[in-house]
Amino acid sequence: EAIFEYIEETDEKVNSFLALNKEAALEAAKAADELGYGEDAPLLNGVPIGIKDNIVTEGLTTTASSKMLENFTPTYDATVIRKLKEAGAIIIGKLNLDEFAMGGSTETSYFKTSRNPWDLERVPGGSSGGSASAVAARQVPASLGTDTGGSVRNPAAFTGIVGMKPSYGSVSRYGAIAFGSSLDQIGPMTTTVEDNALVLEAIAGFDKLDGTSRPDTELDYRSKLGQSIEGMRIAIPKEYQSEAVNEEIRDAIVKAKEYFISQGAIVDEVSLPHTPYGINVYYILSSAEASSNLQRFDGIRYGYRSESAKTLEEIYVQSRSEGFGDEVKRRIMLGTYSLSSGAFDKYFKKAAQVRTLIIEDFIKVFSEYDLIMGPVTTSTAFKIGGRIEDPVEMYVSDLLTVPVNLAGLPAMSIPAGFDSNGMPIGLQLIGKHMNESTLYQVAYDFE
Ligand code: GLN
Repeated sequence: EAIFEYIEETDEKVNSFLALNKEAALEAAKAADELGYGEDAPLLNGVPIGIKDNIVTEGLTTTASSKMLENFTPTYDATVIRKLKEAGAIIIGKLNLDEFAMGGSTETSYFKTSRNPWDLERVPGGSSGGSASAVAARQVPASLGTDTGGSVRNPAAFTGIVGMKPSYGSVSRYGAIAFGSSLDQIGPMTTTVEDNALVLEAIAGFDKLDGTSRPDTELDYRSKLGQSIEGMRIAIPKEYQSEAVNEEIRDAIVKAKEYFISQGAIVDEVSLPHTPYGINVYYILSSAEASSNLQRFDGIRYGYRSESAKTLEEIYVQSRSEGFGDEVKRRIMLGTYSLSSGAFDKYFKKAAQVRTLIIEDFIKVFSEYDLIMGPVTTSTAFKIGGRIEDPVEMYVSDLLTVPVNLAGLPAMSIPAGFDSNGMPIGLQLIGKHMNESTLYQVAYDFE
């Protein structure tokens, strides 16, 4: 009840929530109380949690922040929701995002723009902006986001919280509304590193309902918390400290590096030479996958249907024209173009080949190092309206997050100080596939 009261007080300022789950949540809270909070209680018993609104929840609207799904109430739970409920967590409500998770500021949401609790004139980042503003404003202690090209890490960095993009295949995508299926992962957003590990423990694991789910998923995320990082081999890619990154952010990374050295870690500069191609590769591949995934929104099966449509063709064309926003349409056009017969070799196929080169860059560095560190974002949170008119400027700001998704690696954003405007700076830690426990170890030490 206190949580719902606090949300009522604060949400008109930060705009995190699209829907509240009050009745069911209060009932779940009673059930949690009955189980008690002792040693043998479920892992997250009674813990309130907010959910990005592109993850389906039975009986609770799931809009993906699109007019297309404005009135969509799913008939089943995503695997992560089922697991959270089994762990005793309480679903508080659904959180705002960029439409279909396409964007980096939550400004492409059909419903509203979430705000950064540190400065209400600024964006909370995106696309999981509502998931970030809710945790940063302490409306909930934890939330789930999705990360296709940075959407957990970017808003975590902008709002000074902890965000994890797990290894591809470790968290089931069943029930996450698909954007780029070879890139998407659901990840936890929390105020502390330990909380983050707990939530990941609750949601990760093999799921036969997701064809890319991995049986070798690491599940013991807390085992190394508190262990010394002496002798840890950490790499800083020189491409992540380039002029494209704001100087105050680069300075914060140097400070973090000095701290790690003081703890006995070995930190060297390395090169990930194909980093500059990441944006091009990501926007070609993710848009191609999105154009295919979004075919299902046809005005027939579910979602928005144009009222003026009379023929089948008109139902398709008018429902999609009226139901999708500009950014989503831009991705569909980019994607269908790069998959078309005349453009396929030059764009889609070439991008898939360069993706392999990006993966090989990481494999080479990880043959000698345990972990990679660098910034998450090229700037701190910007003013609302500052970038939305220029899609290319918005795209290039994903420079430091997209390579990780292309390679399927785990990566997190943790708070690393503030800039001169008082806006949070994020430190990114990137790990080997299925080695989240080392990321948590180092993040916990840094925290
Ligand atoms: N900003 C990126 C994009 O717009 C990443 C989005 C995401 O990770 N969902 O595609």
